[in-house]
Order: sequence, then structure tokens, then C-alpha cells
Amino acid sequence: MKKESILIIGGGATGLMAANLLAGQMEVTVLEAKAETGGRINSLIKEDKTIETGAEFIHGKLPLTFNLLAKAGIKTVPVKGKMYHFREGQFVNDNKMAAGWDKLLDDIKEAPEDMTLATFLETYYSAQVHGALRKEVAGYAEGFDLADITKASIKSLYAEWNAEDGENFRIPSGYGSLTQYMEQQAIQLGAKIMTGKIVRQIDWQPNDVSVYTAEGEEFKASQLLVTIPVSVLAKINSPGSINFTPEIDSYRKAAGQIGYGSVIKVVLEFNHRFWPADAGFIISDELFKTWWTQLPDTSAILTGWLGGPGAENLSDATDEFILYKALQSLAAIFSMSVIQMQDMLTASYIFNWQNDLFALGGYSYDTIASSRAKKLLSTPLDRTLFFAGEALYIGEKNATVEAALQSAATTAKIILSDLIG
Ligand SMILES: Cc1cc2nc3c(=O)[nH]c(=O)nc-3n(C[C@H](O)[C@H](O)[C@H](O)COP(=O)(O)OP(=O)(O)OC[C@H]3O[C@@H](n4cnc5c(N)ncnc54)[C@H](O)[C@@H]3O)c2cc1C
Repeated sequence: MKKESILIIGGGATGLMAANLLAGQMEVTVLEAKAETGGRINSLIKEDKTIETGAEFIHGKLPLTFNLLAKAGIKTVPVKGKMYHFREGQFVNDNKMAAGWDKLLDDIKEAPEDMTLATFLETYYSAQVHGALRKEVAGYAEGFDLADITKASIKSLYAEWNAEDGENFRIPSGYGSLTQYMEQQAIQLGAKIMTGKIVRQIDWQPNDVSVYTAEGEEFKASQLLVTIPVSVLAKINSPGSINFTPEIDSYRKAAGQIGYGSVIKVVLEFNHRFWPADAGFIISDELFKTWWTQLPDTSAILTGWLGGPGAENLSDATDEFILYKALQSLAAIFSMSVIQMQDMLTASYIFNWQNDLFALGGYSYDTIASSRAKKLLSTPLDRTLFFAGEALYIGEKNATVEAALQSAATTAKIILSDLIG
């Protein structure tokens, strides 16, 4: 009997996981815009160093991620080092959040209904005495969740912050070794993985899909799985945008209702380590608020992180300007001059994710409209168009690689039960 066929748009963690789960049971072709698969997982290997341009940490013993790593024989190392805070001019070794953080989390839990973080802070924490706490909470949501606090859902932030178990891991061979393994496995199972295929147009009717690339190539299948970021799906007229005929307006609108934040990551290599030898993370009030080391690896590398509106404001800045701003933040933290920083700097890498045409930012966060939007996007259209991706995952590990893998697993199950029974 002829197998059903499916085209998967996007060769990131979601698309590759889906290809692994569907190949063998269906004819699977993955169409990826970039020259390589991996998407927001992308590891640069420079001599003996691994530089993660996107995903870097595994946030806990996450089941699908660790299952794949074990199958692939890829090693992980636990992230080491203490948390240092630079607050009001003082550099202190403490891993505590601002005073009142736990009570604020309890208040979110007890809040009678969901609301944005901005509304919550205005309603319950507007007194002057809460100024420092407000700043820290907003900074955390913007920095780690890449959230716009005027849109972010308090209930979702609570679920995520409350679930953080503190144990993080890195992959010394690079996160990219995981997506390479998934690509090889998918090919072995019979999937075709085609890179450099920018999808522009999708003509569809029940059980009949034609996909056209920017270069005018045509691919046909009975089903389609779209795994591009919601930021790209929501847009029309951007280089990664896809036109659907007939249009899928309500799905596109839903994609735009899920929050999706900006991020700039800078990786700076110095001629020696000028920070405390046991420092893992350094949190500050500077523009580049968060920095981390490579511990247990003792390389003289610091990674700086600017998330949310701060990163969006620098979207159009040159890499030179971004580097200057990052060095300015570090100089303030270590009471040095930017010139002293520049003298110690031996290499720098700037990853401004807003300018990645096929990502248009960092990752998703939940707005108060997200849950309805995710529900719609998770509902297949005429058993023909399916959607998956990091942003469609519902749970506590939002915006992670695990979220992408889980979303692929859930959707692959629906596809197989819909089509094969
Ligand atoms: C800077 C940064 C740091 C991060 N840090 C972490 C971390 O420490 N830990 C963690 O777990 N997660 C982290 N993440 C999130 C994680 O990388 C993502 O959740 C995950 O990789 C998303 O996978 P995906 O397959 O859903 O999307 P993507 O990886 O974005 O895959 C979608 C694919 O679709 C392709 N595409 C887009 N448009 C088209 C088109 N028109 N035609 C064809 N192909 C197209 C893209 O090129 C891309 O390859 C980070 C992300 C960023 C950006």
C-alpha cells in the first residue's frame, strides 16, 4: 500500500523530531530555509571551543532531551559556579532574589484571575516601598522570559518560575550535535532532509498540498506540518513569510497573539579571567544585566545576555555598537573602564536574533491570549495542515528545546492517529 506523504516546513528541533517520529510510517520530506538544520540550535566550533549562538542550557533532567542524548551517546556536564549579584554598586556573592520575591509569587498564585504582569504590579505592588522588587521582577521577566510585561501572563510566569529546579546542564560537543544526530537518524529512517529551501507559497485543499520555494521549486504531499517560529508565521511580507492559499487568517492571527521576545547574546573571550574564580552567573542592573561563565570549563569567556525590550531597542544597532554597550555594562560591574575591557578582549561574537530572518527573535512567552491561540494552532485544518513548535507547547518548560521536542511528539501522535489510525 502506498504510504501517506507529509512535508515538514522547518528543520529545527521540532521539525527533526517530527521527522524521526513519522519517517517509516509516512513519506517524510523536511524543507529547511537555511543551509543547515538546527534552527535556533546552532553551535560554532572554534578550535577547541564550542560557542552556542542560540540554545545553550538544558534546564533540568528533561525526559525527551535526555532520552535523545542517551541514544546518541552525547555527554552533558552540570553547570557549576555561584551566583553573584551586582546591586547598587556592590558586588556580592548571593543567590537570593530581592526581598519580598516569595511573597510576590504567593500573591500571583492567589490572584483571582490571570492578568498581565504590568497590571499585577500596578494593582498590588505600586507602593514606593516595593520599588526595588518591582524592578527586579520586571527585569527577570524581560531578561529570562524575553517578555513584554504589558502582555505577559502572570499565571504562566508563576508556573514557570515555580518549576525552576536549579539544575542545569551543557553539552560540551555543542547542542548542535543533538540536532545533527536527529538529522542522521531521520535520514536513516527514510526521511528526506532538504536545506536551502525557503518556502514562500502553500496551495492546499484537503489531502493535497503544493509547496513552492523562493526559487520556484514545487513539492507535493498529502499533508503538511508547519514548524516555523510563530514570529515568522504571524508575518506577511517578510523574507521568511509564507503565503497560504486559501489564507489561514485566524491561524496567522493566533500566531501573533503568542508572545515572542527579542534577545541579543554576546560571547566575549578575554586574555585572562578577571571575575571571581567560582562565579557561574553575574546578575546586575546594567543594560546587559546577566552574564555567565563556562564553569566547570575555566575558559576566559563571558557570555552576556540582553533580553526583551532592551534587545528590541538595539535591533538595528551595528555589532560594534552592541559590543560597546556590552563592554560598558561589564566595565560598570567590575569598576573598570571600557578601554581596560577592550585591552583584555581577544575575541567577540554578537548574536542579534531579531536580525535572523527565519527566527525574528529569541523565543516565545505566554500572553494572556496565548492559551486560546495555542489551542487553535494545535487544531489541524481539514486533517491536512498541522502546526507544531516550541511556542505551541503547553507546560512548565516553555520556550525550551524540550518544549519543541514535546510539541513535535504530541503533533506526530495526532498525525499518525488521524491518518493511520
Ligand atoms: C539566543 C537563544 C538562546 C536560547 N537558549 C535556550 C537554552 O539555553 N535552553 C533551551 O532549552 N532553549 C533555549 N532557546 C530556545 C530554543 O532554541 C528553541 O525553543 C528551540 O530550538 C525551537 O525549536 P523549533 O524547531 O520549534 O524552532 P526553530 O529552531 O526556530 O526551527 C524552525 C525552522 O524553520 C525554518 N524556517 C523558518 N521560515 C522558513 C521558511 N519560510 N521556509 C523554510 N524553513 C523556514 C528556520 O530556519 C528554522 O530552522 C534559546 C533560543 C535562543 C534564540
